[in-house]
Amino acid sequence: MASAFWSVEREADPVTEGAGRGISIELAGVEKSFGNGLTVLKSLNLSVRAGEFVAVVGRSGCGKSTLLRLIAGLDRISGGSLRRDGKEASGVDPATRVMFQDSRLLPWQTVLDNVRLGAIGLTRKEAEERAREALRLVGLESKENDWPSVLSGGQRQRVALARALVGNPRLLLLDEPLGALDALTRIEMQRLIERIWLQQGFTALLVTHDVSEAVALADRVILIENGTVALDLAITLARSREKDNGFAWFEKRILDRVLEPDALPGKTAEMQFEI
Ligand code: ADP
Ligand code: MG
Repeated sequence: MASAFWSVEREADPVTEGAGRGISIELAGVEKSFGNGLTVLKSLNLSVRAGEFVAVVGRSGCGKSTLLRLIAGLDRISGGSLRRDGKEASGVDPATRVMFQDSRLLPWQTVLDNVRLGAIGLTRKEAEERAREALRLVGLESKENDWPSVLSGGQRQRVALARALVGNPRLLLLDEPLGALDALTRIEMQRLIERIWLQQGFTALLVTHDVSEAVALADRVILIENGTVALDLAITLARSREKDNGFAWFEKRILDRVLEPDALPGKTAEMQFEI
């Protein structure tokens, strides 16, 4: 593993310094309003430890993607404080990568070149080498010269994951990355993400509408409701997780809370049952 960019040996390399170490996130009293007067998040408190895997669930429109965008620095908080590694966050964090439901690959670039784009600040040769290692990590080394159009949906998401990993993120934000995949591919991808997270030690924040996925992967599941954290549940099951009684208990606990009659929004048409 000495040649692998995620290995401990490479931490001495200035380019990869910080690799394998997650960052902590601290949100205190965070508010987010949009120009149209809509307040999406209010008095939101959330602490994520370095290297922790946190899943975020909640009804469609409750503000999950907004929360991720704020943490990524792609949008600004309207109030409160947001700290990354103890420092007040400002702007896009270079050690953060985001992965979305659609792979967002450039169709006119090969798989290798798409992944290479994630390696910022390196020479082309170094970036290619890094991109090959990231492709190996997701099991797609044989596809480096293919065009995105010939790949399956699952393979495209693996390329997107490689592109996110090639920059050695210390924080990986995943916004329903597996939402469009079939059930089997989804499970394979969940295992892949867990394995890579365990190897690399970055902090992971996964938005998902799939409670089962949240329980399978996360150290903690948080539920966003009415703009704030309505449930914060540690998943104390050993890894890798089997769908046994303990698993079902956590799933039910979260689902019951999401579906509580008192929690039904009934306020806006866009808030639909998603879970
Ligand atoms: P989720 O990811 O939980 O489905 P979002 O965070 O995407 O929800 O959106 C939360 C709410 O904020 C929705 O009502 C959405 O329409 C609104 N919203 C998101 N982004 C903007 C924006 N840039 N301007 C105005 N409203 C927005
Ligand atoms: Mg969303």
